[in-house]
Amino acid sequence: MPINIALDGPVGAGKSTIADAVASRLGILHLDTGAMYRAIGLAALRAGISPSDEDTVTALCGRVDVGVAHQPDGQHTLLDGEDVTGLIRTEEVSMAASTVAKFAGVRRAMVAVQQRLAATTDMLVDGRDIGLRVLPDAPVKIFLTASPEERARRRWEQLREKGGSDSYEQVLEDLKRRDYQDTHREVDPLQAVADAVIVDTTGLSFEESVEKILAVVEAKRHG
Ligand code: C5P
Repeated sequence: MPINIALDGPVGAGKSTIADAVASRLGILHLDTGAMYRAIGLAALRAGISPSDEDTVTALCGRVDVGVAHQPDGQHTLLDGEDVTGLIRTEEVSMAASTVAKFAGVRRAMVAVQQRLAATTDMLVDGRDIGLRVLPDAPVKIFLTASPEERARRRWEQLREKGGSDSYEQVLEDLKRRDYQDTHREVDPLQAVADAVIVDTTGLSFEESVEKILAVVEAKRHG
């Protein structure tokens, strides 16, 4: 039986790392769709375009090529063939990604690429609109969440490990702004679709979160 798993949730819920672990335990690929919006955000910043300039960003989106390559160390994100995997994780690009992701033209282009990729192989796809728009027929849909404070703490620790100097308060404030943008945008706002199983990881360890999701997948596949 083919496996397509839709994993949605807000920033810092641990989606990317948890998704990596779940996908590898299931022996399938993990598609991180947020990285694609980040690539468009980076392209806008590089071109000196304001991420909130809808017409110019949408036109830019039509000109650039965003792709992914799955390698043994995980997904690499490509912008016009350049590997930008390491460049798209800054707070500046995070905010730009959340802003460009509001635009219908940008979303349409990214969703089309994601659907093409998911049609060719079994995948766990993580993002914000996967259960709603990208894979509405996925047999397993999960909405992964945790309290804003816990999500900010995890994100702050991640950034600190990479040498970032933002304070916890700054990270929490950015996270709340991104949550607001993601849940209030007009096109496909972040939400738990009716047939999603909600997994709250507040207070759970990484391994406990992975196990909880694997249990949901098993129950759905055999239920
Ligand atoms: O998941 P990540 O934080 O890397 O995503 C960056 C931004 O891209 C999010 O804040 C969100 O606005 C946007 N996004 C989206 N739809 C997706 C994945 C990400 O709108 N499927």
